Amino acid sequence: MNREQASSGDADIAFTGACLCGQVRYSARTQRVSTLVCHCRACQRQSGSAFSVILAVPRADLSWQGELHTHTHQADSGRTVLRRFCPDCGSPVLTESPQRPAMAFIKAGTLDEPARFQPALHLWCEHKQPWVTVPEGIPCLATQPASA
Ligand SMILES: [Zn+2]
Ligand SMILES: [Zn+2]
Repeated sequence: MNREQASSGDADIAFTGACLCGQVRYSARTQRVSTLVCHCRACQRQSGSAFSVILAVPRADLSWQGELHTHTHQADSGRTVLRRFCPDCGSPVLTESPQRPAMAFIKAGTLDEPARFQPALHLWCEHKQPWVTVPEGIPCLATQPASA
């Protein structure tokens, strides 16, 4: 993952979030967060929108309360993606991948303060909707690099 939004000095980055109904709540305290947008078809279908905004954090720095159900999906990247959502309200909350077990990918729309994190990278732009404009200077990759 490039363009890490490293914290300044040694202060941790802390954030919280929840699903729409509040049954699932999460919090994280971490040194390392990166924010990206994924335009892949799976993110479009799952979100019911044009893309997913994703916060990538070390899995060990994230904890949550409440019950998540899991839909297992074979992604275009070839990875297995565990798409985890609230069984009560249906909100997608996070994804995990057995191929990247150290990371968790939070759906940024569930953050309590989503404006704090701005995407530094766009993936799967070959499926980007034509009316979506990526800000100048922000990389927009056709697919997904093996490292992402
Ligand atoms: Zn919910
Ligand atoms: Zn995606």
